[in-house]
Amino acid sequence: MNSSLIGFPRVGKGRELKFASEKYFRKEISVEELEKVAKGLKIMHWNLQQAAGISHIPSNDFSYYDNLLDLTVLLNALPNSYRQLGLNERDTYFAAARGYQGEAGDVKALAMKKWFNTNYHYLVPELFDDTEIKLVGDKPFAEYEEAKEIGVLTKPVLIGGFTFLKLAKYKGSKTINDFADQVANAYIAILNRFNEQGVAWVQFDEPSLVTDLSEEDVALFTAIYEKVLAHKGNVKVLLQTYFGDIRDSYEEVIGLDFDGIGLDFIEGKQTVELLERHGFPADKTLFAGVLNGKNIWKSDYKKVIDLVNGLEKYSNDIVISTSCSLLHVPYTLESETSLPADVSRYFAFAKEKLQEIKELTELIGTSGYEEQEAYLANLQVFSADRVYEDKHVQASVASLTERDFVRNVPRKKRRAIQKEKLQLGLLPTTTIGSFPQTREVKQNRSKYRKGDIGRAEYDENIKGFIKECIDLQEELGLDVLVHGESERNDMVEFFGENLAGYVFTEKAWVQSYGTRCVKPPIIFGDIRRENPITVFYSEYAQSLSDKPVKGMLTGPVTILNWSFPREDISLREMAFQIGLAIREEVQDLEAAGIKIIQIDEAALKEKLPIRREEWASEYLDWAIPAFRLCHSGVRPETQVHTHMCYSEFEEIVQDIDNMDADVISFEASRSKLTIIDALKANKFETEVGPGVYDIHSPRVPSVEEMVAVLKNALTKIDEENLWINPDCGLKTRGIKETRESLANLVAAAKIIKDAV
Ligand code: GLN
Ligand code: ZN
Repeated sequence: MNSSLIGFPRVGKGRELKFASEKYFRKEISVEELEKVAKGLKIMHWNLQQAAGISHIPSNDFSYYDNLLDLTVLLNALPNSYRQLGLNERDTYFAAARGYQGEAGDVKALAMKKWFNTNYHYLVPELFDDTEIKLVGDKPFAEYEEAKEIGVLTKPVLIGGFTFLKLAKYKGSKTINDFADQVANAYIAILNRFNEQGVAWVQFDEPSLVTDLSEEDVALFTAIYEKVLAHKGNVKVLLQTYFGDIRDSYEEVIGLDFDGIGLDFIEGKQTVELLERHGFPADKTLFAGVLNGKNIWKSDYKKVIDLVNGLEKYSNDIVISTSCSLLHVPYTLESETSLPADVSRYFAFAKEKLQEIKELTELIGTSGYEEQEAYLANLQVFSADRVYEDKHVQASVASLTERDFVRNVPRKKRRAIQKEKLQLGLLPTTTIGSFPQTREVKQNRSKYRKGDIGRAEYDENIKGFIKECIDLQEELGLDVLVHGESERNDMVEFFGENLAGYVFTEKAWVQSYGTRCVKPPIIFGDIRRENPITVFYSEYAQSLSDKPVKGMLTGPVTILNWSFPREDISLREMAFQIGLAIREEVQDLEAAGIKIIQIDEAALKEKLPIRREEWASEYLDWAIPAFRLCHSGVRPETQVHTHMCYSEFEEIVQDIDNMDADVISFEASRSKLTIIDALKANKFETEVGPGVYDIHSPRVPSVEEMVAVLKNALTKIDEENLWINPDCGLKTRGIKETRESLANLVAAAKIIKDAV
């Protein structure tokens, strides 16, 4: 059995690429030194894959920042604003990736967006009317040679022309179809070069095929590839798809002259059905994505082997692969020194997945494989009872009924009770939760972590930070206060650390964008709250002020979306388990006298399924209830807030309203408040605090500009429903700019309050 890899993580075991790039940005090392690090990583990764016996090893999956940006450069589509800086090639590239401010000029970076349903971000290509798409670069060809030099014959990987065009932004009057011919010609030129190099296989990634496609989209795809494939010469072309099935284009795809088609059998719900219904052409190779490329769990060999055996009735030319690039999993389990063996035995990171592929290629098709050592060892992992099972939690989730998701007093009635009780007046001012994480705040946490200070001293210091934070807000004259979150490093990690069922890694970094990596916690077992998590801090903060201080929690959907989930139970089940844990915290906060509780769902929209028809059935039908579960038990006078980090939720406004929070705040300043029209059109009932300034920038917003934002908001939102706040937490900001910005915010609020 042959095997293929779609892509391998590139930042390195110890994030070497990240650190080298950052040094380069700070001008501490030269281009040559940076390139040397990159070369070392590429060679190591190729060697690893070769040692694992991978038949189709990718090249050009490496990138200094982002593969789509690499392609944009290769296709001569980098906007003029970057080229005009007159920098060298590498720095022009980084200017597009990160923005540039210096002697040569001042340009912003290209926009960044989430890559389909992952937490990886790509740079959005911008096509202008004078953009001329053609092959200009050398990267994929050079990397093929680089691998060849060490004796590895690779399969170059490029994002395909259709996905490129679908993800691009059109900045002039030309639209997608206007560029189709140019793109096709550029790919023909690319194939010509590969032919000259004697490349055997090339992989074109077309993940856009798994999104909802119109007939025009499919026609465009077909038109591009009819042209391109007519010129493929001796190079075999693999069409690689991932993150779902290609139900809208499968019939057209199998009719085209591809030599291989890569399908996702993990996330592609209808992939098997498509094969069953339409068959698979005998003259093509089926690249079957049968190992999860996105999660950190070992593959269940029995399931994989059964799946592959089942596919043999559709094709007798099968290559096995991961479901997507391994970019989305950490490098290796070998870096983890403190995971207990009964935990780590379940995991396979990128390097371990190579080993799995190796073993599976040896097992599949071998008679008596069930007796082989590798198979038996795997079987044992999956047949043993998982530790961290919690029957009590399972029973609690199983016994949930409709009533557990409904507050006993409807929102409209609650509002009157809350207005009476809280006495906030019109247009209350507040913040989103965190205050600047100063050096002292960070040091306190790291000293505690290292054991340099004990819990008592740590908490005393936190109390000091809370007091400063409350004093500052009193001085500024905000209406609803926060405790400042100085005990938290990250809004998900903090809760994960305080919930049973989670495990944490030391070095399991995953690239999020460019040089930024994240370390998602792992949901290992059933989730349970063992002790109150935030009550101590919130209670103390409230004791310092007569104004309401918000209790501050992260919601179940966000906690789940920013973790590696289990594969043995459903997302719904996990969300409800976390929901129950947060619910206990909410109840305890209320009992401790906290009158307003904010449950952040920063990442609610992130995992909305790629396909619209699955939005409700696969996601919203449990995500919204999971949130409601957290707060349905509180008294009507307790006001529940939520917060979201983006405002692009026009299409699910009703669902957001249906979370039944009393107040929601969200980022709006950069999107020019367009969401507000959708709120109005949908008769949105939740009170809203559209962020009046952008906290992602150190710039201090003026009173006038915030007055203007508020005036605009008031033309669409009833004054009874409007809150005034920044658009996200302040933890990344400095104290000085925070103080000035909030003073201006309160001044703007006053002007508006006096006017209404
Ligand atoms: N309450 C959190 C904070 O202020 C919310 C962060 C977020 O939305 N990303 O930091
Ligand atoms: Zn936010």
